[in-house]
Amino acid sequence: AAEVYTRLRDRPARSRDDVTVSLCMNAGLMADLPSLKGSGAEGVGLYRTELQFLLRASVPRRSEQADLYSRVLDAADGRPVTFRTLDIGSDKVLPYMRRTDEPNPAMGWRAIRLGLDRGGVMRMQLQALLRGAKGRPLNVMFPFVAQMDEFIEARKRLLDEVHRERSLGHVTPELLRIGAMLETPSLAYAPDRFFRMVDFLSIGGNDLKQFFFAADRENERVRRRYDTLNVSFLTFIEHIAKRCDALGTPVSFCGEDAGRPIDALAFVAMGLRNLSMRPASIGPVKHLLRRANIADARAVIDRAISDGAQSVRPALSDYIRNLP
Ligand code: PEP
Ligand code: MG
Repeated sequence: AAEVYTRLRDRPARSRDDVTVSLCMNAGLMADLPSLKGSGAEGVGLYRTELQFLLRASVPRRSEQADLYSRVLDAADGRPVTFRTLDIGSDKVLPYMRRTDEPNPAMGWRAIRLGLDRGGVMRMQLQALLRGAKGRPLNVMFPFVAQMDEFIEARKRLLDEVHRERSLGHVTPELLRIGAMLETPSLAYAPDRFFRMVDFLSIGGNDLKQFFFAADRENERVRRRYDTLNVSFLTFIEHIAKRCDALGTPVSFCGEDAGRPIDALAFVAMGLRNLSMRPASIGPVKHLLRRANIADARAVIDRAISDGAQSVRPALSDYIRNLP
């Protein structure tokens, strides 16, 4: 199988009926970057910046952060990289940050909420991202945005830093794209204006699913209880894909499920065209997408839905088993 995937490395993820899907990889450590070329990923769809912070005994200095971001862009060698600003709090507790005892940390003071309230840490990171880019194109994505004003405020702070860098005579990215992660169901129903103002959205399926089903992703008793291919969830994904399509918002899916071939096929059938996953999943996902016919997969899904299935997985698995 490994050989099959290697052969596919430089081929597009294009289905039999000519649907082309862009496959990127998720990363979070410098050590992940060598996989970029070997996996055939088109870029880094999600770079989890908190890992550098989690591995350290103290906050990395701005210059150390900038240095890492710069090396990541060097390694990407012109391929796009989307840096996600710190997603700390919840399950990712920094050893040097005062722990706030929260009854429900996943729904608590985390990610952009913490970033906006502790402005200094976020500001330092935004400066480091701008400096690390060294004039190259930069994509910045804010995690766990639950309503429009959080994005507006975070974007304003980033643009303030751009102006400050310029006034200091530093180069700024030739192109700056600012996006948000869609990880709470609320954001799928944000005003049209929000979808038009973001440069892109990325569905954080791990969090989105835990809030959609109200099932803690850290809790072994419930984390596998609800299928990603549950009709309710897939219909919700379709709703997001359609809104983004109608409003001209580029959208991707970067949760772990994108790396499972059947799930990836279902997401594509529901309208998504950009997926980001662990590097090792790119080969298997591409292999299936190239064998599949998306219109047929969609018909299988629609039939399962009209038959009253709870999940389309059995029907879609049958379809895949019968592929040439
Ligand atoms: C997600 O929630 O799907 C996601 C990609 O972010 P993380 O897993 O880091 O929360
Ligand atoms: Mg998340």
